[in-house]
Amino acid sequence: MRILLFSSQHYDQESFSQVCRDSDLDLHYQSARLTVDTAPLADGYEVVCAFINDELHSDVLERLAAGGTRLIALRSAGYNHVDLVAAARLGLAVVRVPAYSPHAVAEHAVALIMALNRRLHRAYNRTREGDFTLHGLTGFDLHGKTVGVIGTGQIGLAFARIMAGFGCQLLAYDPYPNPAMLALGARYLELPELLAQARIVSLHCPLTEHTRHLINAQSLAALHPGAMLINTGRGALVDTPALIDALKSGQLGYLGLDVYEEEAQLFFEDRSDQPLQDDVLARLLTFPNVIITAHQAFLTHEALQAIANTTLDNIICWAAGKPQNLLAS
Ligand code: NAD
Repeated sequence: MRILLFSSQHYDQESFSQVCRDSDLDLHYQSARLTVDTAPLADGYEVVCAFINDELHSDVLERLAAGGTRLIALRSAGYNHVDLVAAARLGLAVVRVPAYSPHAVAEHAVALIMALNRRLHRAYNRTREGDFTLHGLTGFDLHGKTVGVIGTGQIGLAFARIMAGFGCQLLAYDPYPNPAMLALGARYLELPELLAQARIVSLHCPLTEHTRHLINAQSLAALHPGAMLINTGRGALVDTPALIDALKSGQLGYLGLDVYEEEAQLFFEDRSDQPLQDDVLARLLTFPNVIITAHQAFLTHEALQAIANTTLDNIICWAAGKPQNLLAS
């Protein structure tokens, strides 16, 4: 069976090659992102393996199906980028990796909180320049602070457990409350109440039509003044231009982003020798109380290994007529 991995980076090649070593799967790596222009590269490949910024709307799916593809194996949990209705119409099966390491993403959210709070990004630069002063580096104790978790599935729960360990009070918002959160002492509230009370708000819900721009000018105005917002979910959970106004007024005190609404054209590539064309991102990068990472929350050895294992299992099960982790067929 011929399999083509789009958007593959060297770390994908390492983890997939290791897992594939003893199988007869014929794996090929393609660094290009999947778009309607690159879809013909998959001609003759029965399986296309795609990541989060690959395009899987109906035009692309039609081109893939015409080229002989029968399975889309996502290397991600999120599937907001896939037109599942079109896939089903074209007879394309779609499988995903529902969980690989909730800890990887939860721990990265905590890393952003710690770095923003204790100004590690500024301290790092300062000491390297021989400046050993402390002005502007004052943080706050996490112990006793109120943390709001939006989306309390696997990652939200893993995040909440860490914050409970710091001695934080937990608030939660999710249409389906998780008993494990209640066991941690979390209180479920409506969104405006959570936003008004939490000093730190962290987003862990999927991107859907209900959650698109969940954080916007109105919800930012409802925040506890000077609160910290962390987004490791999906970029479009937040109306990004609205963040700039909230940061300028001080209403938003700290911002940590691992995802960005327009990231598909930017992330996972070295663009350091080109002028940054995205003015919103460029403005965000000027604030001293903003840290942006380029969708790296998933990037741990454990998560990469689990992604490769589950993806190849998904492919083998589908080929055997017993599909698992199926989104469309
Ligand atoms: P999950 O399905 O276990 O949990 C998602 C939770 O969100 C569920 O409890 C669900 O009820 C809740 N939810 C759904 N709609 C909601 C709404 N309108 N408001 C509040 N909560 C809502 O998923 P997970 O494994 O915890 O992953 C969460 C998200 O994290 C994924 O959908 C993906 O977008 C993102 N993610 C990011 C990275 C990264 O590298 N940055 C990696 C993996 C996942």
